[in-house]
Amino acid sequence: MSELKVYNTLSRQKEKFEPITPEHVGLYVCGPTVYSDVHLGNCRTFISFDIIYRHLMYLGFKVRYVRNITDAGHLEGDRDEGDDKFSKKARLERLEPMEIVQRYTVGFRKVMEMFNNLPPTIEPTATGHITEQIIMAQQIIDNGYAYVVNGTVYFDVEKYNKEKPYGILTNRKLEDLLEGTRELGGQDEKKGRLDFALWIKAGPEHLMQWPSPWGMGFPGWHIECSAMSEKYLGKQFDIHGGGMDLAATHHTNEIAQSQACYKTSPVRYWMHTNMLTVNGVRMSKSAGNGFLPEELFSGSHPLLEKAYSPMNVRFFMLQTHYRSTLDFSNDALQAAEKGLKRLWDAYDFLMKMEVHTEKPEGTDVELDSKVRKLVNEFDEHMNDDFNTARVLASMFELVPVINSIKDKTIANNAISSDTLLLMQSKFKNYLEDVFGLKPMNEADNTKLQGVMQLLIDIRKESKSKKDFATSDKIRNQLTELGITLKDEKGGEMSWSID
Ligand code: AMP
Ligand code: ZN
Repeated sequence: MSELKVYNTLSRQKEKFEPITPEHVGLYVCGPTVYSDVHLGNCRTFISFDIIYRHLMYLGFKVRYVRNITDAGHLEGDRDEGDDKFSKKARLERLEPMEIVQRYTVGFRKVMEMFNNLPPTIEPTATGHITEQIIMAQQIIDNGYAYVVNGTVYFDVEKYNKEKPYGILTNRKLEDLLEGTRELGGQDEKKGRLDFALWIKAGPEHLMQWPSPWGMGFPGWHIECSAMSEKYLGKQFDIHGGGMDLAATHHTNEIAQSQACYKTSPVRYWMHTNMLTVNGVRMSKSAGNGFLPEELFSGSHPLLEKAYSPMNVRFFMLQTHYRSTLDFSNDALQAAEKGLKRLWDAYDFLMKMEVHTEKPEGTDVELDSKVRKLVNEFDEHMNDDFNTARVLASMFELVPVINSIKDKTIANNAISSDTLLLMQSKFKNYLEDVFGLKPMNEADNTKLQGVMQLLIDIRKESKSKKDFATSDKIRNQLTELGITLKDEKGGEMSWSID
């Protein structure tokens, strides 16, 4: 099989993948900030790394996959300006910060499960590793790369840059980075414009704070990932991943922190996923274009014409390589739905085909070798920086062959038994094990959608006739079955399975 090549953001090229310890891979992916629901953009990144994780296992590596939960310290801006997201949300909703964290962590795990993402092998929380973060910040101070002002610890970027290039990950010089930041004002405590906080002094309004050598406070967001990745994967590990938007600040700061603390470059391969966009604009909570997975599964989002299943959405994402942008729309999802159905129908038939050994002389040698070549390309494409899109393209080239056998345009022994077995095992390996697509019953799904629409229509009619007994009965009985009806704007209704 071809060797695995990984695009490394640090070197800006594809490199041969060689783990530090043979056969073992340490993989760290920045997890969600659990102060609100994850949107589909976040899901794209987590689905991409799930596929990378699955492929590494398919190749035989033993993978320790660490994905953290950011449950403290992620401030409003990447550069520590603003408020602690958890305290702010807790004040708004009058909840304990840990209630917010619990609610959205549970929600996040549920979404990951619906997308059939495998859980990471370790899922550490920032609040569970405060001591490790304090120790690391202290070590950075002791090594001379951080300073304390009024209970807050800042990383000294300019001092660090004298020894190591700070902007190495995104290939930018300090002068250029400085140009992009605002001048420091009289009220600023930090010495340099790019300095960032390792530890932040907490005021009385902060609901989550911990004692430290510098007084009561809470950790900065960047130190969290450095401390937890070191704890579980060591001072140097194989792959660190996240969305591309994290490279310029969060990951740049992670490198600086680890280098300043341990004198080693922490990560061999930096991998970044490209963004999910809506009409070309990056999907984000702040831009107000964050589709929630639940809005897709129920079809309740105003821009969607219908509901889409989690596997449909997963497949939609697989059709594009993780380093390309992907634009989200109703039309694109609909096209993906059709594509998935076509592929899965062929796959279903393929898996039911029986191996024919009795008439080997019937083999169409040319077709047989074409099929073999396409099937062998699956491994090659995936080993070429996890190119799911190209694997699917090869699969789609094979669909007409399978369909021709299905409708008997070509004989079922036109393909040799070896090739058929190879095709069956590789389709299964990729579609189910690596791509994580689950066998689905689209027909049942379509029927369920029809039945639900019928019930919603009956309920609407009964309400308009003031027959509330019937409308309540429909809602209550559906609730008992675990299906929730929701009133949407403009008198529309949506539904979701709990
Ligand atoms: P957050 O919870 O904001 O820390 O984000 C969790 C992950 O989602 C990070 O790796 C982000 O880079 C990633 N992410 C955020 N927005 C998008 C997007 N529109 N497309 C793909 N990934 C995203
Ligand atoms: Zn991180």
